Amino acid sequence: MDGTPLAAYEGSTTVQPAALLADVAALVAGPLEEAAARIEREGRVPREIWDLLNRRGYLRLAAPAEYGGAGLPFPAYVEFLEAFSQAHGSLRMIVHVMNGIWRPMARRASAEQVERFVRPQVEGRHTVAFTLTEPGNGSGADIQTTARRIGDRYLLNGEKHLITFGLVCDHYLLFCRLEGTSGHEGTLALMAPRHAPGLRAVSMGDSLGLRGTDHAHLYMKDCEVPVANRLGAEGQGLDVALRGFLDASRICVAASCVGLAQRALDLAVARAKARVTFGRPIAARQAIQMRLAEMETDVEAARQLVRWAAGRWEADPPAAAAAAKAKLFALEMLQRVTDGALQVWGGAGYFEDSPIARVYRDARAQRFEEGTAEIQKATIAKELLA
Ligand SMILES: Cc1cc2nc3c(=O)[nH]c(=O)nc-3n(C[C@H](O)[C@H](O)[C@H](O)COP(=O)(O)OP(=O)(O)OC[C@H]3O[C@@H](n4cnc5c(N)ncnc54)[C@H](O)[C@@H]3O)c2cc1C
Repeated sequence: MDGTPLAAYEGSTTVQPAALLADVAALVAGPLEEAAARIEREGRVPREIWDLLNRRGYLRLAAPAEYGGAGLPFPAYVEFLEAFSQAHGSLRMIVHVMNGIWRPMARRASAEQVERFVRPQVEGRHTVAFTLTEPGNGSGADIQTTARRIGDRYLLNGEKHLITFGLVCDHYLLFCRLEGTSGHEGTLALMAPRHAPGLRAVSMGDSLGLRGTDHAHLYMKDCEVPVANRLGAEGQGLDVALRGFLDASRICVAASCVGLAQRALDLAVARAKARVTFGRPIAARQAIQMRLAEMETDVEAARQLVRWAAGRWEADPPAAAAAAKAKLFALEMLQRVTDGALQVWGGAGYFEDSPIARVYRDARAQRFEEGTAEIQKATIAKELLA
């Protein structure tokens, strides 16, 4: 596999977006496409691909130079992510998480914590898992994992689940609350080491798509985390989780939807030209042409909405409603387009060795990441009715 770094931007703070996009397109169509079958077969992303992405600078594009990143402006990063999302869903997940998780950490990290947590993550030396969702409660102010302070340690009790990279990360960016508190009060953001005493991480098993990504269920029983690993003050946990991260991340997930939908559309167009029935390619049939035209329009509408939201976020964060609108439209568009693409493929597309089957399965995860459609609608309505 070619791991030659792109001199145009590796380790540089002056990334050339055009060179970047050209490199992404070549990588996605070449070595990353070749790796997809292996990822599906082995259920993991080979280490050499992580290393390749890291060497290329793909895992630290969005972070500013002061943390060791390339400092790509957010709208340009969003375009990069859209292009990259045509690759296997688990590769998109690596790029998305590694380019985004520094944001909540940096929001409240002290100078010492920047060196201990933020910089190693940005430089690709540490993997950090965002750890919010709980099996027994809603996310956000409903979280119930508790912390009790004993001297210079917290003792944590509770469970988390669906945690991406939960089996391989170095640290969890974990959200919990002081015993006896409710709502936003008493919430904490802690950097919990994966091997913290009292913490057990168990695989959640095989998922429908994203087959190279691990997801963990965490069990904490008097799990010890140093107070020095707390980001921000007691009571600022949800500020780190929600305002530090979520809105930008929703726009990124929306961009991923656009990229994956483009891939589905391209596969549908290729299939429509190649598949012959009753003596003519199905692309010659008006019914297929109408469907493809609708899909193309849907993808482009979502793309423009995502780019608009990225501009709003860059100019005046958090742009919560703009981010929710982009995510809502893009995730519903992705469902329509992947379903349409599978239909164009016909029955052959329903089998595992067809390229559209994986795209279809990977797409379904996007409707959960960073909140469901219902939660996006709640955010939009809140602004509308304020
Ligand atoms: C592949 C994958 C990776 C993930 N990675 C992570 C991760 O790294 N870290 C992490 O913390 N989480 C992660 N998650 C969890 C993800 O963020 C949640 O699945 C998502 O936010 C939905 O929450 P839930 O699963 O608890 O659904 P539930 O809260 O159980 O919701 C079930 C349904 O009810 C609806 N609903 C719930 N509450 C309301 C309400 N108040 N009003 C209206 N409707 C409501 C929801 O929209 C949904 O349709 C991941 C999930 C997946 C599928």
